[in-house]
Order: sequence, then C-alpha cells, then structure tokens
Amino acid sequence: MKLVIVGRPNVGKSTLFNRIVGKRISIVHNMPGVTRDAVESVGEWRGRKFKMVDTGGLVESEEYITKEIKKRVQKLLEEADAILFVVDGKEGITSADQSVAKLLYPYKEKVFLVVNKMDTKVAQSNLYDFFTLGFEKVYPVSAQHGKGIVELLDDVFSHVAESKEVIPQEGIRLSFVGRPNVGKSSLVNAILRSDRVIVSPIAGTTRDAVEIFFEYEGESLILVDTAGIRRPSKVEYGIEFFSVGRSIKAIEMSDVVCLVVDLSEGVTHQDQKIGSLVERRYKGCVIVGNKFDLTNLKEKEAEAYIRQRLYFLDYAPVVLTVATERKGIERLLESALLVYRDYCKQHKTSFINRAVEKIISEKAPPSYQGKEVKIYYAYQETTKPPTVVLYTNYPEGWKSNYKRFFERKLREYLDIKYSPIKLVLRSREEER
Ligand code: GDP
Ligand code: GDP
Repeated sequence: MKLVIVGRPNVGKSTLFNRIVGKRISIVHNMPGVTRDAVESVGEWRGRKFKMVDTGGLVESEEYITKEIKKRVQKLLEEADAILFVVDGKEGITSADQSVAKLLYPYKEKVFLVVNKMDTKVAQSNLYDFFTLGFEKVYPVSAQHGKGIVELLDDVFSHVAESKEVIPQEGIRLSFVGRPNVGKSSLVNAILRSDRVIVSPIAGTTRDAVEIFFEYEGESLILVDTAGIRRPSKVEYGIEFFSVGRSIKAIEMSDVVCLVVDLSEGVTHQDQKIGSLVERRYKGCVIVGNKFDLTNLKEKEAEAYIRQRLYFLDYAPVVLTVATERKGIERLLESALLVYRDYCKQHKTSFINRAVEKIISEKAPPSYQGKEVKIYYAYQETTKPPTVVLYTNYPEGWKSNYKRFFERKLREYLDIKYSPIKLVLRSREEER
C-alpha cells in the first residue's frame, strides 16, 4: 500500500506528511534537478502498514521537468494506490494547482484532493471552488491542527480496499442528493416501505456504497445511496460540506439523480450548487420539492418557484412530496422512469442531421473572429446521456450562449424532453 503526496510548494505537504506518519522519515530519493527530494516513510493506520512518499517540489513546474524526471514521476503516480493532491485553501486555486491537476487526471480515480489550512476563515469560504479542479473526492483538513485527517485516511484506506472489487449490477441507478435534513432518508424509506418488491435488501457491504434493489412498473431500480441511509459520523468540518462530497459520489454513480430540496426553507444557494454538480455531469434529474406540507404555496406556485431558482436544470421534472406522509412518491418514481427513458434515447444519424439543419436555419452560429462558423455533420455517439458529436470548422468559436441554445433546440427536435443532451464539438480534422 503506497500513498503519494503531490502539490505545489508551501501548501503544507510536509506538515501533512509528518502529521500522518510522524517524524520517522527514512528514505530520501535523490532526484536531480528538482527543487526538493522525494521523501519516503512508513506509517500505520488502524493496524494497516503503508508507505508514504512526499514528492516535494517534483510535480510543480512543468518547465523544469526533464523527460527523465517526468518518467519517474509518472512511475510514482502509476504505482501509487492513492494520491493525495494537496492544495492551499487559504490561497485558493492557483495556476500551479491547475497544472498539477492536469498531470493527475489520468489517475483521477485514486486522487484525493486535500484542501489544507482549513483552520483559516478564508479557506472555509474558498472550499467549494476546489471542486472545479475536477476531482470527486475532496477533503478539507488542517494539517497543522490535525483536523480532518481521520476522515481522509479512513476514506483512503476504504477506497484502496474497495477499488479492487467491481460490482456490476443491472438496473436504473437512482440516487437522492441534497443538503442535510431536506428529507432524503425519509424519501428512501417512503419508497421502500410501500408495497414495493425489494429484490434484495442492502447489498453493498462496503462503507461507501449502499445499494438497494427494487422493482417498479416492471423496471429494476437500484437505489444508490451514500447520504440517505447512513448518517455521517462525527466530522470535523461541517456536515454541510461532507454532504456535498458524498453527493458528488452519488451523482457519478447514478443514471437519474433525485435532487431534494426542502420547501419549508426554500431553494438555497447550496441547493443550487448541488444542482449545478448534477447539470455539469449531464445526469438525468428529478427535482423533488419535499416538505410541501410546510409551505403555504399552491402546487403551481411551488413548481414555478423551484423552476426559477434551478432554471439551469430546465429538463428536470419537478415533483412535490411529503415524505413523512408518503405523498408524491409514485409520481417521483414515474418521473424517474420518464427521465431514464429519455436518458437512453437513441436516434439515427439522418434524423439528427435533419434536426441540426432545422436549428441552423432558425439561427446560424455567430461568426468567430470574423469568420463563418460552419457545421458539417452530426451523429449520436452514445446514450446515457444522449451524446451528439458535431463536426465544425471552429469548435473553439462556439459561444456558450449559442451552444446552450443549440442544446435546447436539439432536445426539442430529438424529443428528449427530460434528459440533458451532451453536445461534443469536434474539428473537421478529427473526422479522418
Ligand atoms: P510544503 O512546501 O507543501 O511541504 O509545505 P509546508 O508543510 O512546508 O508548509 C508550508 C507553510 O504552510 C508552513 O509555514 C506551514 O506552517 C503552513 N501550514 C501547513 N499546514 C497548515 C495548516 O493546516 N494551517 C495553516 N494555517 N498553515 C499551515
Ligand atoms: P436527510 O438528512 O436529508 O436524510 O433528512 P431526513 O429524512 O432525516 O429528514 C429530516 C427531518 O425532516 C426529519 O425530522 C423528518 O421527519 C423531516 N421530514 C422529512 N420529510 C418531511 C416532509 O415531507 N414534511 C415534514 N413536515 N417533515 C419532513
């Protein structure tokens, strides 16, 4: 078992390293041409021994790095069971962080993004920004104060144990995400307590993946749940934050995400953030307005309010529920099936191209640096989500407004009402 720490200088790698393994630094790798040598040490966590390598300034600056060093770094990263990518919460994201991130993308699955210096106020307000680095597992810590380290190491070790086992399961993968206390567990319980056939009870045995199988209208569904069933144990830096980390995991594992909001509190900024995580990953979504019993709004008003606050999820059906009274549960499941059907829709190339032609004739792409942006050809590459590849002379010349317009129109013409469409722009050269 080998942990590798990477990150630009001064983010707190050595502090974290020492925090985790104590001061028993044993081996120093001599790497010519780097600002600091890699340090390796041996540690133990809950009875399991591991090696830990601090890469020092190894990965920080592309321009210094010779081919030889690059190779050694690659090897180190490849061999790692887990990579701790340390960033400085106080400083926020820097361009050096971004280049490290790029280097780590191929190893994304085993990267744990460690946001250090959480003992400072500014780090706490910067925290969410770090999700934009593109890693799923994000851990706020204070290496100096020894906080957040337990959660980090527990997850690292359970990840290493789990990553070897893959459990392929057939069915529509559904998850419930949202802030704490919005009613996720109550909804899951409401679903399971009705007369539904539960094919198997909690099947996932690992700490972080609980899966429940049941059938609805002849379809197999899998509740992928990381937040709804178990309560997070004591966490150092706010339950709110951890619910986001878990949500991301649940979102990535699902086909359809039920984004739960609490109507007694309204749709908050945090809800919008979670919603945008769903949107950015092109997942199917049902927006669940729970605790409808606690508002004075009429159904139409509540729906309009939710739509307005989560306007960017315009493809997601809205369902109002009272989880504690099991109201709205059937509609929720029906909506999830509806979304899934669209999420899996597949269209012929000729049909796609006709739709594309219609859209262009309504509104052609705006020109780019004075040049005409042309569209040559389109086809659907995959489903889940429906992914349309479009060849154009200037992929970089597409304005985001126009792209959004185009996606919306495609959904309309392809009759994909309830699922996002992923539009991939490619330049003509790639066609050959
Ligand atoms: P490295 O270059 O990445 O190994 O960073 P160091 O471990 O040498 O730490 C860089 C600086 O950040 C030092 O001044 C540390 O005292 C400080 N530092 C490290 N961890 C923390 C932390 O959790 N909170 C705060 N406030 N400062 C920290
Ligand atoms: P979770 O943290 O998102 O899983 O939320 P819970 O399911 O634990 O619910 C939090 C609290 O809200 C509990 O006290 C529930 O009884 C309550 N609750 C959940 N759904 C509803 C609802 O629809 N109406 C009302 N009035 N209370 C609800």
